[in-house]
Amino acid sequence: MAKCPICNERSPSRLCPALGKRICSICCGEHRRKSIACPSSCEFLLTAERKLWDRRGQELSKEWEKLLVYLREKGKGHLVPMLQVLRESLAQGIHKLDVTDEDVIAALDYCVQQLSPIELLERPPNILGRALEETLVPLVQSGKLDRELTREALETLAGFVEYFSEEGDGKRFVHGLLGLYPPPKERPSPIIRPEGSGIIRPR
Ligand SMILES: [Zn+2]
Ligand SMILES: [Zn+2]
Repeated sequence: MAKCPICNERSPSRLCPALGKRICSICCGEHRRKSIACPSSCEFLLTAERKLWDRRGQELSKEWEKLLVYLREKGKGHLVPMLQVLRESLAQGIHKLDVTDEDVIAALDYCVQQLSPIELLERPPNILGRALEETLVPLVQSGKLDRELTREALETLAGFVEYFSEEGDGKRFVHGLLGLYPPPKERPSPIIRPEGSGIIRPR
C-alpha cells in the first residue's frame, strides 16, 4: 500500500497539484499554504477557503445583529442603513484587493479624516482607503450623503471591525465579508488599478 510521502503513515487520498503527488488529507490541511505553495486553483484549497469564509460569515452576522441592537438601544438607529451601504462597499473592494482587517480599519479611519470639516492633507494608507474615499467624498460634496452621518457610520464600522478582529487571525472580518458576499465565480487575481476608480459603488 502506498503511503503519503509527507507523513509516511496514512494512505494518500488526494492529488496535490503543487507537489504533483498524492498526499493524505490531513497533511494537505496541515501544510496547505504553509510549506506547500498551493496554486490558487487547487480544489482542496478552494473548498477549505470557502468553508472558512462561511464560518466567519456566520460569526460576523451574529455580531452584526448585536451591533444593530446596541445602536438602536442607544438611539443611533439612523446609522443602520449607512452601515449596511459601507459594509457592501467594503465587500466589493475586498473582492478585488487582498487586504487584512488592519487595512480595512486604516481605510475607514482615513475616510473619517477626509470627511472632517478641517482639511487635512494625508495620503491614503492603502488602495482600499483611496477607493472608499473616491466613492464617498464626491457623494458628500454633492450633498447626496450627509457628512456627519457618513463620518459617524465610518467610525462605528471601524470600531466594530477592531472589535470583531480581536480574537481572529488578522483577517477575521475580511473572511466574514467574503462569506456573506461571496466573490463572483471567476475570481480575479488581486488587481491594483492605478486610478482605482469605480471599484466601490454604494447604491
Ligand atoms: Zn500525510
Ligand atoms: Zn492543494
